[in-house]
Amino acid sequence: MTQEFHKEAIRNAVFSLIGNTADELKIDTYVIGGFVRDFFLNRKTPKDIDIVAVGSGIELAQKVAAQLQGKPKVSVFKNFGTAMIKHQELELEFVGARKESYNRDSRKPLVEDGSLEDDQNRRDFTINAMAFALNQRNFGQLLDPFNGKKDLEDKILRTPLDPAITYSDDPLRMMRAIRFATQLNFNIETQSLKAISEHKERIKIVSKERIVDELHKIILSKKPSIGFKLMHQTGLLPIILPELKALQGIEEIEGQRHKDNFWHTLEVVDNIAENTDDLWLRWAALLHDIGKAPTKRFHKKIGWTFHAHEFVGSKMVYKLFKRLKMPLNDKMKFVQKMVLMSSRPIVLSEEHVTDSAVRRLVFDAGDYVDDLMTLCEADITTKNPKKQKKYRNNFKIVRQKIVEVEERDHIRNFQPPVTGEEIMKVFGLKPSKEIGIIKDAIKEAILEGEIPNEHEAAYQFMLEKGKYLGLKPSTT
Ligand code: ATP
Repeated sequence: MTQEFHKEAIRNAVFSLIGNTADELKIDTYVIGGFVRDFFLNRKTPKDIDIVAVGSGIELAQKVAAQLQGKPKVSVFKNFGTAMIKHQELELEFVGARKESYNRDSRKPLVEDGSLEDDQNRRDFTINAMAFALNQRNFGQLLDPFNGKKDLEDKILRTPLDPAITYSDDPLRMMRAIRFATQLNFNIETQSLKAISEHKERIKIVSKERIVDELHKIILSKKPSIGFKLMHQTGLLPIILPELKALQGIEEIEGQRHKDNFWHTLEVVDNIAENTDDLWLRWAALLHDIGKAPTKRFHKKIGWTFHAHEFVGSKMVYKLFKRLKMPLNDKMKFVQKMVLMSSRPIVLSEEHVTDSAVRRLVFDAGDYVDDLMTLCEADITTKNPKKQKKYRNNFKIVRQKIVEVEERDHIRNFQPPVTGEEIMKVFGLKPSKEIGIIKDAIKEAILEGEIPNEHEAAYQFMLEKGKYLGLKPSTT
């Protein structure tokens, strides 16, 4: 192997300090993994930096920290044999080189001390197994036993050892492979892809949290569809997200076909990725049609329908989040709301856009109306240029109207201009259903544009409505 040095990658003085300290301890040390990979990819230096020591990583960390300015704290994780120092913006993670062996029921390996080669062998991909030496004698030397650098150039994800063993040992690596392929736009090498397909069931021993971490990273990539296509191709999709898999396929009855909602969904997710980095809005795009599988029906007269799929879909969001142990908090509620309302602006954009329809939209969507519009614009995947243009144009009109209506009527986060208490006082009522009826009528009148969203107009309207209900004002 030709010797290749990259001192420029480890210019930060902390690396020579680590190397010199390791020299004093008479151990070899390296920076390894993501740091080296990202250097060759010209990516930003990662915050987490992995230092491997052929000896005690903890001892090395402690000795390094003692020499750093401010003597930062060393967080020691004895059980894992690791130690972490925060220095500048970096998190330096020290660990002793290790050899790993696995048993079938767990992705937790048996660990013993090992050489640098042992440590590189246990890495997931050749591109993640490269190291730069830090000792003085070989400072900056690249140690790349599996030609990871070549794989980086060729944009290939390959495992250092037999892929079947690598994935079966720790099935999280399947998701990592797909995630890296998505983030970096790399190909997974054929034997690896085959091994993932063959061992897909092993993903079941991986915790939901770890799977979701990878899903988040896929969803936050520039082109998330790459990851979902790979999950589909390898058979992981039905295990992890059966709701999405159920959208795949086109049925034809009496010559009538519906679109393939899985491939459509992937287009929508890629589209929205161009306009937002909001993880949850991207999740909403991924899930916006999941209700279509259970609601699909064929009717002789009208063809395929997905009646109430938005409502059914929003209920499914809860179950999906729960199954994947995702937070059942306001993020989930936001995704539910987006799914529930996902067809509303589309309906608007298909017909003449009236002020009252826009007011209702703003009323129902509240603060999320912009997000909803972003979702719906991403949902335009028609290949018919005429329709494309029409929908885009109509959405533009809807957006404009939202601004106008908002300026005039302040519907967003609507507060009734006449309160229940005022109604009770005016008509001398105790809490009763009439109050609800009047409040509702006022809200409807405002949304319909019959009266402006102002106290005086609403007050007069209340008096009229009360009269109609046979109520007499006790005070005016
Ligand atoms: P990112 O920072 O984008 O998540 P990364 O791989 O650099 O990616 P970590 O997940 O912290 O960050 O992993 C650090 C290194 O540890 C990897 O580069 C790889 O060498 C190794 N590694 C991580 N997870 C595994 C795994 N499941 N199996 C084998 N090696 C792994």
